[in-house]
Amino acid sequence: MSQAEGQLVVLSGPSGVGKSTLLRRLLTDFSALIPSISATTRPPRTGETPGVDYHFLSPEEFETSKKADRFIECCQVYGREYWYGTLEDEVTPRLTHGKWVILEIDVEGTLSILERYPQAVTIFVEPSDPAHLEERLRGRGTESPEAIQRRLEVAHRELRQSGHYRHRVVNDLVEDALANIKKILTEAGFSNDSTETASV
Ligand code: 5GP
Repeated sequence: MSQAEGQLVVLSGPSGVGKSTLLRRLLTDFSALIPSISATTRPPRTGETPGVDYHFLSPEEFETSKKADRFIECCQVYGREYWYGTLEDEVTPRLTHGKWVILEIDVEGTLSILERYPQAVTIFVEPSDPAHLEERLRGRGTESPEAIQRRLEVAHRELRQSGHYRHRVVNDLVEDALANIKKILTEAGFSNDSTETASV
């Protein structure tokens, strides 16, 4: 019998909702879950490592990969500023080997993924109060006021699109949100003890 196929997990949520912290904690606790490293034309922020946080590409390199069909989805996030995309190489070989791969991508990317992988486990992280997003984005201090404004507009649009996701998790207390995400994955057949998974 052939080895079970792996599964794709998609984690989305508006900027400032605390997705990165949740993902970091999840990857520590569920070490068998493999993060897909996206490609982007956005320049690295302080503290970001190429090949770990993102594959940072020039617009020309990104375009070349796009033309070569190396992305399973890609789009311009935040009002046509930068390109982001999921590389086929980050996903397909792992799925074929029965691994679970998690993507942290936006709503537009998720809709493309669902066309290709309708069984993907999609999770949308939302704030208990949308006003918290603005506080977190401003507190982070990494963006200009204009960029924060644009991110908030995108965030509010994304919140309205959360119905496309199979699961929604409120990130009020990190521990609770993390426990909920772990429960969703476990119920979907993920096991951290084995690289073999329930058939999907
Ligand atoms: P960042 O704050 O890292 O600049 O941008 C993160 C935003 O881009 C998040 O909304 C994240 O979900 C989205 N993003 C990151 N990688 C990808 C990707 O490969 N594809 C898509 N569609 N969105 C991505």
